[in-house]
Amino acid sequence: MTTFNTLALKPALLDSVETLGYADMTPVQAQSLPPMLEGRDVIAQAQTGSGKTAAFGLSLLQTLDADTIRLQVLVLCPTRELADQVSKAIRRLAINIPNVKLLTLCGGMPLGPQLASLTHDPHIVVGTPGRVQEHLKRGSLHGGGIKVLVLDEADRMLDMGFSDAIDDIVGRIAKHHQTLLFSATYPQEIRAVSQRLQKNPVEVTVDAPANEVPAIEQRFHEVEPAQKIDALAQLLSGERGADVSGQQALVFCNMRREVDAVALELDRRGFSALALHGDMDQRDRDEVLVRFVNHSCSVLVATDVAARGLDIVSLPLVISYDIAHDPETHTHRIGRTGRAGQSGLAITLCAPRERPKALNIEELNGTPLAWRPLKVAPQRSKTLHLAPMKTLVIDAGRQDKLRPGDILGALTGDAGLAAKDIGKIDVYATRAYVAISCSLAAKALERLRAGKIKGRSFRVRPLG
Ligand code: AMP
Repeated sequence: MTTFNTLALKPALLDSVETLGYADMTPVQAQSLPPMLEGRDVIAQAQTGSGKTAAFGLSLLQTLDADTIRLQVLVLCPTRELADQVSKAIRRLAINIPNVKLLTLCGGMPLGPQLASLTHDPHIVVGTPGRVQEHLKRGSLHGGGIKVLVLDEADRMLDMGFSDAIDDIVGRIAKHHQTLLFSATYPQEIRAVSQRLQKNPVEVTVDAPANEVPAIEQRFHEVEPAQKIDALAQLLSGERGADVSGQQALVFCNMRREVDAVALELDRRGFSALALHGDMDQRDRDEVLVRFVNHSCSVLVATDVAARGLDIVSLPLVISYDIAHDPETHTHRIGRTGRAGQSGLAITLCAPRERPKALNIEELNGTPLAWRPLKVAPQRSKTLHLAPMKTLVIDAGRQDKLRPGDILGALTGDAGLAAKDIGKIDVYATRAYVAISCSLAAKALERLRAGKIKGRSFRVRPLG
């Protein structure tokens, strides 16, 4: 066991680690933190859930000098969702260091407010490569003082075509900086990026110990394409012996239009299902994620790209409506379940013509796939499978100095709800979301509209 206080970390950071309740370092942290703190470049193979964010977060905060007002740390992430999570994690770790300014800069968001917040350089920028590149080019961001560059989920960034943007960014920032590269996989392209951008890096690979391998059960069903939607509805409703009903599920499709079609059909059949894909605007994507994470949507139908960066701690069920094009994508999909030591079920629907892709997965796994018969019957009656919560949107957020506690206070105080009926509360810059038990959502809405939050009246409406 390795404890954090064996490291030469600032007391403020050790305090944060203690407040967060991290007793021991995770394997990635134990191996990567010592060289990172020495200032070495590090390339680490680390999945989501390995504690990688805290690993680079602690190291970059150790290097940061909060008294010097200039951009010192740049963290590049593949998606806005991941950038938001990383920002949150770094903010939590920095809570005991006064005056740390962190800014999240992502594409898909209007440029104007970003330019307005860049009148003074932040210490840390977390963002997606395209938008960060644009700010560096415009001169709205100054890279000359950057001491640490983090490439998080580097393999995903390459998949998404950010390679040139990353190279361009590196050409625009201080020549001497530490480069920390985190990637779930090490394809040749990642090695090439490391060779281009890193100096004599320390390589960290962590094999999950046998007893920590999550218990993911996989099942494969051969289903004719025309029967897939019935098969999916049947599995989700727990009919015919499927033991998965009532659980939250993430359903993957290979094509965006299929995502829409499947989500629509599930909705028609009484499921609270939503679609998530890259054609949607950022606000809609955010709202879909909020609703899924706070349990006011039970089935999320997504493309692989859209599901990246989705941080859901324990998802009991993942279904591939189409089999993934390649075995690596399949592995990513099933890795969405069985996290944090919980068991999970990954079901793949495979049309006869998709068989060759299943064989590729079998080859990669080195073990026979678990094919199970599935008798598909068309659904006769519509049964409602509603989500347990409903989401309300308040048209006010951090800019109005609104905090989760204010919303909780307004609901439990004036509105008379019990804390147990209130779920997750998310406060964004101009908007806040709160999950309420379905049966009490109408009452909560009525009371919030009639009463006040922090002495002020805001617009409140139900989502969906
Ligand atoms: P990540 O791999 O960065 O997505 O982190 C996965 C989760 O592990 C996050 O919820 C962290 O808060 C948590 N975590 C990170 N480091 C530790 C630690 N040393 N002990 C316990 N939990 C941790």
